[in-house]
This record gives sequence, C-alpha cells and structure tokens, in this order.
Amino acid sequence: MPLEIDARRFRETFETYSAIGATEDGGLHRLALTDADREARDLLVEQMEELGLDVRVDELGNTYGRREGRDPDAAPVLIGSHLDSQPYGGRYDGQLGVLTALETLRALEDEGVETDRPIELVNWTNEEGSRFEQAMLGSGVAAGAVDVDHARSLTDARGRTVEGELRRIGYDGDAPAEVTEAHAYLELHVEQGPELARSGASVGVVDGVFGLSWMEATLRGQANHAGPTAMHDRQDALVAATDAASEIHDLPNRLSADAVATVGRMDVSPNSINVIPDEVTFTVDVRSYDAAVVAAAPDAVEFEVATAAEREDVDHEFERLWSIDPLEFSPVVREAVVAGAEAAGVPYRHVVSGAGHDASYMAQVTESGMVFVPSVDGITHAESEFTEWDDCVAGAETYANATLELAME
Ligand SMILES: [Zn+2]
Repeated sequence: MPLEIDARRFRETFETYSAIGATEDGGLHRLALTDADREARDLLVEQMEELGLDVRVDELGNTYGRREGRDPDAAPVLIGSHLDSQPYGGRYDGQLGVLTALETLRALEDEGVETDRPIELVNWTNEEGSRFEQAMLGSGVAAGAVDVDHARSLTDARGRTVEGELRRIGYDGDAPAEVTEAHAYLELHVEQGPELARSGASVGVVDGVFGLSWMEATLRGQANHAGPTAMHDRQDALVAATDAASEIHDLPNRLSADAVATVGRMDVSPNSINVIPDEVTFTVDVRSYDAAVVAAAPDAVEFEVATAAEREDVDHEFERLWSIDPLEFSPVVREAVVAGAEAAGVPYRHVVSGAGHDASYMAQVTESGMVFVPSVDGITHAESEFTEWDDCVAGAETYANATLELAME
C-alpha cells in the first residue's frame, strides 16, 4: 500500500505557515533569522514535538526532528528544505519542501509505519542568501564546505551577525553543524522554471543541477563632454559594454542547447547625463548542464569582451570569479523518486535544475536528490509564484513514498 498524504491537513498547514510573514499581495516576506522566521521555526518545533520527534538545533540554527527506526544505529534518511524566503518572495519556494517533509512523517505516523532507518526532518538556515549574502549557508556548513565561524560572523546590511541573530531568536543551538552519516538526503522544491508546467507532468525527478561560471569585465575609455566631442572622436566604455552584452546574450546559441548567459549587473562611471562614460564594469553568469560548456564559457565571453573593446577602441580587463561543475544527483535517490512516483500513480518526467539548492551541498556528503513540482509560468522569487495544489499533493505523495523507499534500504 502506498503512503497517502492527507491533502486537507497538508493544505491547512501550508496556509498557516503562509500567514507568517505574509505580504499584502499573497507572497511571503520571511527573511532568515527575523522575527517572522522565528515564528515559523517555533511552529515547526511545536509540530515536530507533537509528532513525538526528537528535536535538536545545531550551531547554525539548522533544526532537525528525528523519528527513530527499527535500527537506531542505522544512518538516517534526511528530508527537508528551508523556511526562509526572498524579500517579497513566494509562498512555495523552500516552505513547501519543509512542510512536505513534515506531512511525510505525519503520514507514516497515521499509518503506524515503522521504518528500518531513522528519518530526520531538517530546516536549513539562510538558504536564500538575501539577508546574509551567502546562499545555502546552513547546508553548506553542515556539508563541511563552509567554515562555521565564517558563517556565524556574516553580517546583514545593518551589521547584525548571524551569531547575534541566532541568539536573539533562540536558535543558537549546541549540536555540531555537520552531516556525517546520513544514508540519503531528499528535498522537494518548486521547479522555478517553466519546463514541468509546460510538459503537463505533476512531478519532476531531478537528475542534476546546472554548473555555472561567474565572470567580471571592465572596459576603460575616455571621459569627455557629451556636447563638443564628435562621434568619431569618442572612446565610449558603455557602448563597448553594451556591444559585448549583446554578443554575450547570443552566445548560448553557439555553446549548447541548454546554455544560458546573463549580464546581471553593470556599473557605469561617471554615470552622468552629459559625460561620455569612461569606465564600465559588468558581471556575466553562464550556466549549463554540460561540464565542457561551463569550462569553455569564460574564454568565449572574454573573446566577445575583447572584440567589443577593440571595435570601440577602449581597454579591457577580464576576471574569472567563480565556477561550479554541473552536479549529477545520486542514482539511488533518483530511482527511489521514480519508485515513489510510480507507487503514488503520479505522472513524472526527468528534469535538470537551473538553480542550486541545499540538496547540492548535501550531495557532497551523502546520496542526494530532489523532487520538483511545477511552477506556473516558471515564475519564482516573486509574490506571484504559484503551484497548483493538486501538483503539491502529487509531489508530496511521490516524496513520501520515495522517503519510505530510502528508509527501508
Ligand atoms: Zn528554495
């Protein structure tokens, strides 16, 4: 018998959490370690305790609720996501994953199912990286990829530290922030892209995550008066930058079918209405699931920057800031998700994530994977973010059965 989700209770729970930090336009404004985050965390702890889970908080505020299995010494299956949101973000990103994990444990309890392995629900701290500007902070520390003291000393725009805010809201825990012996990690999340919604499938089995490459280019020309300087006498850094940006926009066509390229930030100097710009700095983000494309991107972008600089007779500098290889999720977890969808009778398809998630860091320490549910119109990090409730339930049933599968291995 497949596990079933109590759709009405799941919905009520979702609406209750959505009211904490709700915006007037139906979104969610619940930044990490704020009072609203504390309220949502307190409710989660209360509901985990009601379920008889053993709750613990680690030194990054990551909060776990453990349900014992038949074999208390077996490595646990970790399930969860994050309760923090983007500023004026949506109600589904993160929160839906935590509540799906909670509902999964409730379903096991309803049915009196005893699993072989323990299962631990986890809410990761500061996944969004919008208040404290390092995304996936809690899971990064737990995976050993981010230093705990560095993480605790990060500050927000007003100079308040992670450590101080953890203490203020009562989530500066004693447990070490490390995941060392999990059997697997499974996370449900909204897709944040349009593919699933367009395909009509309710559930995505996430095969992996795009790799990315970040770069920064600077163009230097000559500042001069916008009036007396003839067009042929100019060395306009902004014209070169926009020329390069336009070529970079076309670059994915030449790289691969899935590649995307974004010029996201541009700083113009002196940024004055009647002065020819002498210096422009801009960033480039290129992503693909193909490691060769991610590796080749900086050379291709630098070529476009150099060529545009030459056309406008300006100087250029180019810096490679950061890159991450594409990630393939664990075959074990992907198979469990397929089995979960089949058990629940839910139509699924295989997808790749364009964005990183806590599951990406967990992949460094355990068998990790994800379930996606569709984002209508692919909209996310916005108040209008929306997923049909039937899809949320289909995703939760897939997730619950996949979790059960993993906990019986
Ligand atoms: Zn998220």
